[in-house]
Amino acid sequence: MFDKILIANRGEIALRVIRAAREMGIRTVAVHSTADTDAMHVRMADESVCIGPPPGTDSYLSIPSIIAACEVTGAQAIHPGYGFLSENANFVQIVEDHDLTFIGPTAEHIRIMGDKITAKDTMKDLGVPCVPGSDGGVPDVESAKALCAEIGYPVIVKATAGGGGRGMKVAMSAAEIESAFRTARTEAKAAFGNDEVYIEKYLTTPRHIEIQVFGDGKGGAVHLGERDCSLQRRHQKVFEEAPGPCISQEERDRIGKICADAVARINYTGAGTIEFLYEKGEFYFIEMNTRLQVEHPVTEAIFGVDLVREQIRVASGLPMSFTQDDLTINGHSIEVRINAEKLPEFSPRPGRITQFHAPGGLGVRMDSALYDGYNIPPYYDSLIAKLIVHGRDRPEALARLHRALGELIVDGVETTVPLFHALLEEEAVLTGEYNIHWLEKWLETDP
Ligand code: ADP
Repeated sequence: MFDKILIANRGEIALRVIRAAREMGIRTVAVHSTADTDAMHVRMADESVCIGPPPGTDSYLSIPSIIAACEVTGAQAIHPGYGFLSENANFVQIVEDHDLTFIGPTAEHIRIMGDKITAKDTMKDLGVPCVPGSDGGVPDVESAKALCAEIGYPVIVKATAGGGGRGMKVAMSAAEIESAFRTARTEAKAAFGNDEVYIEKYLTTPRHIEIQVFGDGKGGAVHLGERDCSLQRRHQKVFEEAPGPCISQEERDRIGKICADAVARINYTGAGTIEFLYEKGEFYFIEMNTRLQVEHPVTEAIFGVDLVREQIRVASGLPMSFTQDDLTINGHSIEVRINAEKLPEFSPRPGRITQFHAPGGLGVRMDSALYDGYNIPPYYDSLIAKLIVHGRDRPEALARLHRALGELIVDGVETTVPLFHALLEEEAVLTGEYNIHWLEKWLETDP
């Protein structure tokens, strides 16, 4: 086992990793920008190294600074958290070239899944159900028209190198395909420096269901069921739950086994998430994330496992601490993402926290790097806390969420907490009968 690991991240996820490491008796090194000198992850780690000025590109994304921080502190492994360098295959290669361990999958797996066409081809070959569409990039408008006539409208044109919901255009009919194709190309070129696009059948009312997988890197893998993350705004998740309110045990077993077998066959290492759109009882693969996800705590809650501990174990060469048979679902869990943002436009609100009180009690977990007097810097993501509740069933989890939100105090900046109070009044949220468009429509009509 490692003696010391470095966490190449900040905020709540850096704390999450420090906590797991401490319970394992591993020392931790925090890295931080000059804007984060007083941040909680710096206080909680055993050691810290300042790696640059505030902008992420000069600090949390600076590969030479992070490698140098490992060398001066003697850290043997790097946990990337999510975001920043977590899905950067080049970074993983450099880490390995310096005889350090990356706590995550191989550079090759990150590269395969980072390119959406290669990812889809690979998953298809591994027996994972995919959205019907072009096999690979679509070179020109004429081929796009021919293909769409075959698969039928509506369709969605997506950037191969896309991410964060950008570079996607829907065409409802043949009249719209030419402009959708050209716009998607132009946007892809501008945003990702690569204008390759592919086309898929557009599913009109799907849910977002993702399967958590975990591999030992030696051909063994398990799945930890699904998370339903259908409540999204601009393709950003805001409310996540596990298990999915509409997924039966038979469906879970079936799709879970397909996913676990797929990652086992490629000797995948560590945590991964296979994302699907789910409509009329069918799963359609959209992408795989080769990292820990923001919403991983809902899975931890219902299975009673520590996914970060497991990542560190497997990266150090130890076997996984559970088998598929050990994994049974206990109750229901919900996470809400609390952002420092002003409603209704969701504009970022950095600033000083004048009062902070975290909710507690049975079945409540608060993952946050906030404290009284903390100054939220304007340079990074606006996520300031994740409130995760666990109950024996969905109604109990909803009641607990309502109760915990009532206890939470965050003064000094505006947050998205009022959104969750309002959502908990909605019939669709209470019954779980929503799809990926529900929240956007509700926000338009019910500000
Ligand atoms: P990104 O990497 O940019 O997040 P994804 O491929 O994961 O892109 O898609 C993001 C979101 O776009 C999905 O969660 C879904 O809301 C929507 N989407 C993507 N593909 C389709 C499709 N074929 N039909 C309907 N909606 C889609």
